[in-house]
Amino acid sequence: MLASRPVSPELPQRPPFALRARIISPRSAGGTLHEPDGLIQVGADGRITDVLPASDRPEAAEGAIDLRPWLILPGLVDLHAHLPQIPNAGVGFGLTLLDWLRRYVFPLEHDFDEAAADRIAPAAFRSFARAGTTTVLLYGALWEPSLDASFRAAEAHGIRATIGKVIMDRFTYDEDARTPAETLELSLRQSADLCSRWHMRDGGRLRYAFTPRFAVTCTAEALRESARLAAEAGAIWQTHLAEDAGEIAEVQRLFPEAVDYLDVYDRAGALGPQAVLAHAVHLSDREIARLAESGARVAHCPASNLFLGAGMMPLARYLDAGISVGLGSDVAGGPDVSIFGAMRIGAYAQVARRTAGLDQQAVLDPLAWLRLGTLDGAMVLGQGDVTGSLEPGKDADLIVVDTAITDPLGDASGPEAWNPTDPEELVSRLIFRTHPDMVRGAWVRGRRLEGPA
Ligand SMILES: [Zn+2]
Repeated sequence: MLASRPVSPELPQRPPFALRARIISPRSAGGTLHEPDGLIQVGADGRITDVLPASDRPEAAEGAIDLRPWLILPGLVDLHAHLPQIPNAGVGFGLTLLDWLRRYVFPLEHDFDEAAADRIAPAAFRSFARAGTTTVLLYGALWEPSLDASFRAAEAHGIRATIGKVIMDRFTYDEDARTPAETLELSLRQSADLCSRWHMRDGGRLRYAFTPRFAVTCTAEALRESARLAAEAGAIWQTHLAEDAGEIAEVQRLFPEAVDYLDVYDRAGALGPQAVLAHAVHLSDREIARLAESGARVAHCPASNLFLGAGMMPLARYLDAGISVGLGSDVAGGPDVSIFGAMRIGAYAQVARRTAGLDQQAVLDPLAWLRLGTLDGAMVLGQGDVTGSLEPGKDADLIVVDTAITDPLGDASGPEAWNPTDPEELVSRLIFRTHPDMVRGAWVRGRRLEGPA
C-alpha cells in the first residue's frame, strides 16, 4: 500500500522568501555543502542572503516555508541543446550523425519558423524546468524571427538562457537562391542584430551566443567572422567538435590545410574562454593539450554520444588536462532534456571506458557529477559568480526535489521514507533513479518557473 503523500506546501512565486529543507550544493571553494536541516534565505532582489543550519536562526526557521523532507539543490545547467529539435527527442537511435541530420534534423529546423517557435519554445522551457534545469545554452534554427520568438519565450518564462541563431553558409537547409557570400553576409548581420537586441537583457539573464553549426556547414570565413563578432560583444561562441568518425573525415576533406579538427577553429581565432565546444569525443593528444592551453570549454553530452553511436568521451583525461567541462543534454541528439540523465549515462560511460581498459582513472562519484551539472556548467558559461551553487550573494537559482518519489519500493513518503545521512547516497539515488516528477519547484533569481508538476 502506498503511504499517503503529505499535502504539497505552498511554494513562493517571488522573492523575498525563506525555505527550510535539506540542502546540498557544491561550494565554489571546493567540497560540498550539506545541511540536513537547512535554511536558505532569499532577498527581495532574488539573491541568496544566507544558507545555514536552521538551528542557527530559530526565529527565521520558524517563519520559513517548511519543505522537509524535500531537498534543495542548485538549478541544473544544460550547456548544449537544440530548441527546434526537442519535438523529435527519442527518435533516430543508432543513425550516424550526418545521416541523422539529413533525415530528421534539417527538415525539422527548416520548419522552425516564428509560429513554430511561438508554439514550441514556451513548452520547451517548461520541460527544462520540470527536469530541474534553470540555465540553458541553446542552438536555434536559421531563421531570425524564430530566434526573437525564442528569446521572448525565455524572457517570459524566467529561465536563464543563452541562445544563438545557427550559421550555415554551406550544406544549408536554406533554399533561397543567394551566392555563398550573400548567405554569409546575411547570417552574420542577423546574428549581430539578434545579439544587439538580446545579449545581457534582464541584467544578464538572457545572453546571445554566436553559433556556427560546425565546420562541415561553415566556411573558414564564417568561423572567423562569427568569432570576431562574439569577441567584440563579449558573447559566447559555440559550435560542435569531433563528434563522430564520419564528421571528422568530412572536416579533413573540407579543411585540408588544418592539422586536425580543433585546428580549424584555432585558425579562425575562435578558441578561448568564450568558446563552448560540444562533444569533443575524439581528440588527439595534440588537440587535448591545445584545448586546455586555449581556455576553450567542453559541453559533454554523454547520452547523445551513445544514442547516435558517436563514442565515449575521455572525461577523466580532459579533467586531468585542466579543461573546463560541463554537461549537455544535446536534445534531440540526446533523448531526454534531463541533466540527471546526462549524469547517469556519463557515469555508465566512464565505467565502460575503465572496464574496457581505456581509462585508468577512478570514475567520478555522485557529488562530482552534481558539481559537473551545476557549478562547473555555470563556470563554462562564465557565470560561476552568479549561479550554479547555493551561496550568499549568488542569484537564487534553485530546485526542490521530492526524494521519496525515487524509492524503489514505491512512493514511500512519510516517516518511513529512506533518508540517508550521507549526501552522496541521496544524490546517487537521484542520478540513477531519476523520476520525471521528482522536481517539485524551480526558481531563477527567486522567481518561480512554470514546468515542475
Ligand atoms: Zn548538438
